[in-house]
Amino acid sequence: MSAPPATRVIKAQAAKDGAPEGGATAALAARVLAAGGLVAFPTETVYGLGADATNAEAVARLYEAKGRPSFNPLIAHVTDAAAARALARLDPAAERLAAAFWPGPLTLVLPRRSDCPVAELATAGLDTIAVRVPSHPVARDILAAVGRPLVAPSANRSGHVSPTTAQHVLADLRGRIEFDGGSTPMGLESTIVACLDAAVLLRPGALPRAQIERVVDLGEPPSAHTDAAPVAPGQLASHYAPRARLRLHAQNVQTGEALLAFGPVAAEGAERAALVLNLSTRGDLIEAAANLFSHLRALDAAGAATIAVMPVPHAGLGEAINDRLARAAAPRA
Ligand code: AMP
Ligand code: MG
Repeated sequence: MSAPPATRVIKAQAAKDGAPEGGATAALAARVLAAGGLVAFPTETVYGLGADATNAEAVARLYEAKGRPSFNPLIAHVTDAAAARALARLDPAAERLAAAFWPGPLTLVLPRRSDCPVAELATAGLDTIAVRVPSHPVARDILAAVGRPLVAPSANRSGHVSPTTAQHVLADLRGRIEFDGGSTPMGLESTIVACLDAAVLLRPGALPRAQIERVVDLGEPPSAHTDAAPVAPGQLASHYAPRARLRLHAQNVQTGEALLAFGPVAAEGAERAALVLNLSTRGDLIEAAANLFSHLRALDAAGAATIAVMPVPHAGLGEAINDRLARAAAPRA
């Protein structure tokens, strides 16, 4: 893994504001992003912390920068509906919503295409993907310059409020890469609508429900979302669930088990494993996070009934990795 690029603070103006440096700063941001770095930039909702959605290690660094204790699926930002169709399948309701509200503060949760280039970590291993086309000129310039989807959750440390000015981003994430484009016009997150079976409102946001209902009928959210206790945004997506059983903190490998290793393979009887994949042979938690969902999926696809998982330390991204492993191991109804 190459070292992340050095920290840079970039003063940006949108190219369309007539600032000659607009295009140049977008190009600089795009170079940082294409090299796996992080760039904070304004969207019409709040400041996003951007990373190349197709680069699993960049996405892992983004989770680390935010200090999230778990991997929530992230929104892929793209330039237009055509770019969204390369990631996901849009049903007729989704097409109508895209035509009516993109670019703008509407996120659609859609079935992920099998050839979708977005890293599994970015969608937390799910078969669905959240996609949005932002309207903010700075975000659009950067997306056009980088030419690939960007994940861009709010540019704040986990648990802090979403930033609506570059000063907020600096206060929270000083020492990372920033992209200063003034304050964000809306200051509220995007509205999220799932277009899977029926169109369902998953998160209220900057685009009002009434406007959406002029374009599509909104169905009842799945029962999990209508429980008396409101569901927090980060919990809206169901969790990735492998078919195989997971045996955590494994110190040994039983015959027929697959092994998900971390660091030097110390598990006793590892030679008995039907298949071994290592999250990071050198014990690097960013590399491990980048590999987590794709390795789980590959071991699951290989058909072992049980996946033995070596212990992963709790420090840094280890907390989020252990959180997802525990969820994937939890018995299911
Ligand atoms: P934000 O912090 O504004 O980037 O919002 C991300 C939100 O999108 C989180 O609340 C996620 O739960 C939600 N989200 C992202 N991907 C999915 C998905 N595939 N299914 C359901 N919700 C999703
Ligand atoms: Mg947030």
